[in-house]
Amino acid sequence: MKKFVYFDNNATTMIAPEVLDAMKPFFNDHWGNPSSAYQFGSRLNKWIVNAREQVSDFIGARPEEVIFTSCGTESNNAAINSALLTNPLKRHIVTTKVEHSAVLRYCQELEARGYEVSYLNVDNAGRLDLEEVDRTIRPDTAIVSIMMANNETGVVFPVAKISEICKKKGVLFHTDAVQAAGKLPINVKELGVDFLSLSAHKIYAPKGIGLLYIRDGVKFKPLIIGGHQENGRRAGTENVPYIIGFGKAAELAKQRLKEEVSRVKFLRDRFEKSILELIPFTHINGFGAERLPNTANIAFEYVESEAVIMLLDQAGVCASSGSACTTGSSDPSHVLMAMGLDPVRARGSVRFSFGFYNNESEVDYVVEQLQQIIQKLRAMSPLTPGNVKAS
Ligand SMILES: *Cc1c(COP(=O)(O)O)cnc(C)c1O
Repeated sequence: MKKFVYFDNNATTMIAPEVLDAMKPFFNDHWGNPSSAYQFGSRLNKWIVNAREQVSDFIGARPEEVIFTSCGTESNNAAINSALLTNPLKRHIVTTKVEHSAVLRYCQELEARGYEVSYLNVDNAGRLDLEEVDRTIRPDTAIVSIMMANNETGVVFPVAKISEICKKKGVLFHTDAVQAAGKLPINVKELGVDFLSLSAHKIYAPKGIGLLYIRDGVKFKPLIIGGHQENGRRAGTENVPYIIGFGKAAELAKQRLKEEVSRVKFLRDRFEKSILELIPFTHINGFGAERLPNTANIAFEYVESEAVIMLLDQAGVCASSGSACTTGSSDPSHVLMAMGLDPVRARGSVRFSFGFYNNESEVDYVVEQLQQIIQKLRAMSPLTPGNVKAS
């Protein structure tokens, strides 16, 4: 059988068999509408209640503080949108240069609509300057939106400390915790955030379901308006099977967190150590910063990441260049550029992200493949020191 190694778990994850099993009855047996007056529909509510308990338990929230959305992107949009609508006189937003496009592009759109956005810098390891966070918040700042962990580099931001700053200044704080879920413990009370976004497909559940935590007492205005679902905070008929799957995935992620973190960290560390030892002119992007245990973002000098990814694909290996959203263009990743990486090094960067279904022999196989691939590409590249450009 052709080799298949999936090292792109930050892009999406396989649906866990336990999650699929939990969802199945809700496609063909229990397919009613939870808002119906008869039991065939209304009895589904007790399952939604159960799933809401599972996901809120996963993040240390109360069930009333959690709404289901269609994805992480919607949750991010909804949090920022609500802060602006509930504070109509405040028209300034603080975020960072390294956010996921679900925050970054939304903020750019808001700028086009007349809002003002400050994009915070990061240092060359991808870290934020907390003093800068403090300085950038203004009396007219409606919300600060800063991710918990970066999807490209795995760099973790000190969300609890940022929360303190925001609280002191009396400004709402949202964190995109999509990548942190299942890889770091998440407790909304300890983090002290007002809003937090999660997406199910990064924790072994299907794509197309997410959640937004809204701290009790925080005013909320919905992004999607229509029916009375989610207590009037998110209209649209509940995606029952996916909600059930998300609940199960959250329960599994909570149970597995400790063991899973040490296992993926072992794989990631083995991978990085081997690469640095065996392939010259390689660097770990985000080195020196606190990072997620599962993410390796490697800069291979003198190669183009697109070529590496293509050859890896031929060897049955899934990995990605820093930014899935710019695939196809030659623009280097906005995250790596914000870190001040040389554009050449940024263009040679590849992200490998490990997950629950990966193992050690896959790591060794990919390291072996990479040795050959990088050597081959460098031998052809006029950029490689010692190579003379063919004329
Ligand atoms: C994947 C991801 C999202 C988007 O989530 P979707 O459910 O795919 O919309 C948002 N933020 C981060 C950090 C992500 O990694």
